[in-house]
Amino acid sequence: MAHMTSPLLIVGSIAFDDLDMPSGTFRDVVGGAATYSALAASLLTPVRVVGIIGDDFPDANLERLRARGIDTAGIERANGKTFRWHGRYSADLTSRVSLDTQLNVFADFSPKIPDPYRASPFVMLGNIHPSLQVDVLRQVERPKLVAADTMNFWISGEPEALAEMLRRVDLLVINDEEARQLSGIQNITKAAADIRKRGPSQLIVKRGEFGALLFDEAGTFFVPAYPLEKVVDPTGAGDAFAGGLMGYLARYGDTSPFALRRAMFFGSALGSFCVEGVGPSRLEGITKGELSTRIESFCSLVDYGGQLTFSG
Ligand code: AMP
Repeated sequence: MAHMTSPLLIVGSIAFDDLDMPSGTFRDVVGGAATYSALAASLLTPVRVVGIIGDDFPDANLERLRARGIDTAGIERANGKTFRWHGRYSADLTSRVSLDTQLNVFADFSPKIPDPYRASPFVMLGNIHPSLQVDVLRQVERPKLVAADTMNFWISGEPEALAEMLRRVDLLVINDEEARQLSGIQNITKAAADIRKRGPSQLIVKRGEFGALLFDEAGTFFVPAYPLEKVVDPTGAGDAFAGGLMGYLARYGDTSPFALRRAMFFGSALGSFCVEGVGPSRLEGITKGELSTRIESFCSLVDYGGQLTFSG
C-alpha cells in the first residue's frame, strides 16, 4: 500500500522503572510512556519525542532511541533525577500495584515544542498532567489527529483539567478500569457513549489480554490481543499499543474509520511484542519482517473464511 509517512509527535514520560515480577526483580529499566510509544511507532513512521530527563539519564539510552530513527532533539535534560516508577505485578501478571512514583524532574516539566515539531500532523499525548497535555495543543498547528492517554491519578485528582483536555482531543486511548472511573458507569458500552459526549469522537478501550474496543461514528470495533504462550513483562503494552496505532495512521496519513480499524491491529501487534521482553527490550529489537509476520498471524486469527450469516 502506498504511504506518505507523516511525522508523529509523542509527548510523555521517560523513566527509570523498578519492576517486581514473578520472574525476578529488575531495577533501573528504561521506561516511560513516551519511550514505549516511540519505539513501537518508529517501525512505521518518523517519530519525534518531547519529554524530560535528569542528569542521571545516560546519553547511551537516548542513543538507543536514535538507533531506531527516533528524533530526540525535543527531550530536555534538567538538573535532578529522572522520573522513577516502581511497580509490582501479581503472580499471573494480570494486575499490578504502583509501589512508588517519584516525579523528580517531571514535577516542574513544562513541555516546549520545538519550532520544527509544531506542524506535526499526528500527535500522541502520553499520560501526563492534563493541563500539560492542553499546553502542548496550544503550541501545535492544527494536527490532523490528536490522541491522548490518561490514568486514574488524573481522573480523580484533576477532573476540571481533564475535562478541558477531553474537549480538545479526537481520540482517547484508555483501559477499561479508567473508562469506568471516568464515566462512573460500569457497562463499557454505556461508559464509552458517555465519554464520547465529553469531547473525543473516537474512543479506544484497552482490555489487556482481552483485546481492545474502538467506539467511533462508524460503530463499535474489536481487535483481539495476540495469544502468546509466554508473557514476560506487561509494562508499557498500552503505550506500545497507542504508538503502533498512531504510527500506522501517520504512515498512511489517513484518519478514516477503516484506517483506524486497520491501525488497531498494528497497535495490538506492537503491544504483543512489548510483553515478550523485560522493559522495552523486545520493542528495541523487532524488525519490519517480524511485524509483517505477526500482522499475517493476526489476519488468520480473525479470518472466519467467508460470510457470516444466519437465516433460520
Ligand atoms: P503502561 O504499562 O502502559 O501503563 O505504562 C507503564 C509506563 O508508564 C512505565 O514505564 C512508567 O514509567 C510509566 N508511568 C507510570 N506511572 C506514571 C505516571 N504517573 N505518569 C507518567 N508515566 C507513568
